Amino acid sequence: RVRNEETPEKMIEGVLNKDRAVLAKVITLIESSAIRHQEQAQIILQKLLPHTGNTIRIGVTGVPGAGKSTFIETFGYLLCEQGYRVAVLAVDPSSTINGGSILGDKTRMEKLSTHPNAFIRPSPSGGVLGGVHLKTRESILACEAAGFNVIIVETVGVGQSESIVRSMVDFYLMLVLTGAGDELQGMKKGILELVDLIVVNKADGENVNNAKKTTREYNQILHFIQPSTAGWETKATMCSSLTGEGIDEIWKRIQEFFQVIQSSTVFKDRRQSQVKEWLFSLIKERLETNFFSNKNVRKLLPEIEDQIINDQATVSEAVDALFREYKKKDS
Ligand code: GDP
Repeated sequence: RVRNEETPEKMIEGVLNKDRAVLAKVITLIESSAIRHQEQAQIILQKLLPHTGNTIRIGVTGVPGAGKSTFIETFGYLLCEQGYRVAVLAVDPSSTINGGSILGDKTRMEKLSTHPNAFIRPSPSGGVLGGVHLKTRESILACEAAGFNVIIVETVGVGQSESIVRSMVDFYLMLVLTGAGDELQGMKKGILELVDLIVVNKADGENVNNAKKTTREYNQILHFIQPSTAGWETKATMCSSLTGEGIDEIWKRIQEFFQVIQSSTVFKDRRQSQVKEWLFSLIKERLETNFFSNKNVRKLLPEIEDQIINDQATVSEAVDALFREYKKKDS
């Protein structure tokens, strides 16, 4: 028996009524790989779309142990207390690689999760990273329709996920630890070009002086880095997510950032190019799935693989042959 509240109409109503339990169900539909769920999710999202967009989207990255959970808990709590409604989502690259999870498995943000203004969603598991990020974008929209006006997207600072999160947030913050000297040696400069603020975390107790030094070092380096956002200078600052020191200041900077980018076309332009990027990644993903599930292609592929391994055909020829099969009517 299908319960009433589980029809798409009821779910739309529930989300718009800011019902967090219904929001969680909608996100489960979004994350499901079952075709029927995906279809339902699209029906729902279509109706939610007009209620999205007027929000602050913040990305938080950092290596495991940098203090992301602790930071988001303290930062999110401060915002909730000020009356903001805060949703926390995660893009977890590890869950796609080995089925486990760096982000999702531990008990996280217990204090924040009980706040009436907060919604915390563990990271989706399974699927390819591309797929996960498309789902996260849709989850952002669902959260916004449910009245969450600050969306925090957390990711671990490994590989591809960092640039993926850049493509779905307005403001991007990286948490780092003291001892930047060594860390910066190994750090790809590329990541510094993605972020809008670097926060040296754990600036408390005996670590304060080190944190000050590290903050200075980052600021020196940032001087030579192309900022991520036009009209905004990426800088380093420090905080303690444990004591809360400096968190308020970070929120002030973020508000300043939004004032700056909303007074020009930067905010609008970024949101527009992000949605276009989303369109093209969805097209690419669908083409890829379509190509590899094509019966003709699947039939020919093993033979083609043999040919290229045995130097009987070049890879280009092989691709041409596969595409000829692909364009034939799927039998
Ligand atoms: P994550 O892996 O990036 O999410 O990091 P966690 O938030 O789980 O933090 C890793 C460890 O660092 C935990 O033991 C935290 O208690 C500790 N930690 C996080 N922030 C701070 C901080 O500001 N000061 C201190 N002293 N410890 C912190």
